[in-house]
Amino acid sequence: MKYPTLSSFGRALGATLLAAVAGPALAQDPLTTRCESAPIAALFKVFGDTGRMPPDLGRFLQNAALQKIEPYKAFDNVYYVGICWVSAWLITSPKGHVLIDALYGPFTEPMLEHIRQLGFDPKDIRQVVMTHGHFDHAGGAVRLKAALPQARFAMTAEGWREAAESAAQSTGRPNEWAMIEKDMVLADGQVLQVGDIRLQAFETPGHTMGTASFAFDAFDGGRRHRAFTVGGLGLNAIQGPEQVEAYIASIQRIRQLTEDGRDPVTTHLTTHAFSNGLTEARELLKGRKPGDAHPLVDPKGFRDQLAALQADAERRLVAERARKPN
Ligand SMILES: [Zn+2]
Repeated sequence: MKYPTLSSFGRALGATLLAAVAGPALAQDPLTTRCESAPIAALFKVFGDTGRMPPDLGRFLQNAALQKIEPYKAFDNVYYVGICWVSAWLITSPKGHVLIDALYGPFTEPMLEHIRQLGFDPKDIRQVVMTHGHFDHAGGAVRLKAALPQARFAMTAEGWREAAESAAQSTGRPNEWAMIEKDMVLADGQVLQVGDIRLQAFETPGHTMGTASFAFDAFDGGRRHRAFTVGGLGLNAIQGPEQVEAYIASIQRIRQLTEDGRDPVTTHLTTHAFSNGLTEARELLKGRKPGDAHPLVDPKGFRDQLAALQADAERRLVAERARKPN
């Protein structure tokens, strides 16, 4: 099945930026440098439901001070190097690293600096995997390609297509971005190996039709946990009922991975911190005492999040079917 363009996210953001330039400044900003999950999630919910970006959200996304997050060690071998509203995860090994997602625009260069701050050389990144073709995850690929000579860049085939299309459609808009040439194409179930890192890719169409998700091991004091990054969460780029059906099927498939009796996924290393309270869990991690459970290892929290995502999508499916012309 052929899907229409998937750039509504970029279009909405561009329109919001234009409105922000033209319109009066709001007296109060509900979002603060603490990057609390609940108010951000609430604004994204409005965006997802209406397809229109709330002005507060548009301004928040463009505010570098509000977006700044100190990089931190989440597990022995996994580091957060993203900003407030979009994640980037560095998985490390003595023989090279993997980076999940590229950030975008003004945020990609500081990410490289954060990686150096953590004690790693970005040039040791061998693999950059991008979850999908929206600018916030793939927009930094051009900058990374120049900075990371050893790295291969990977997406699904549809991910490469949607990224190229989304970048092309941003031409002349405030959020204009460019995409790199297609490099490595991920197949469903493919395992990428870098040093002792084994990262498995899954095609999980839904948020966009090219969305990929990733499973890998995260170690805590040597104890292994199965980690998973759901490549796309929101319903903000939905183009019709077929896409919502794909989204639900992908969520059901991920739910099965959390119930795998042999090796269940127990930690969700999210693409968007506000989606599961990652910023708040990070505070718990800072205050963690020896013997305390790892706050990011939360199998029930992940299962509950997946159930909520599915319930949202099922409601959306009813609305999309009702909207579809016969
Ligand atoms: Zn997206």
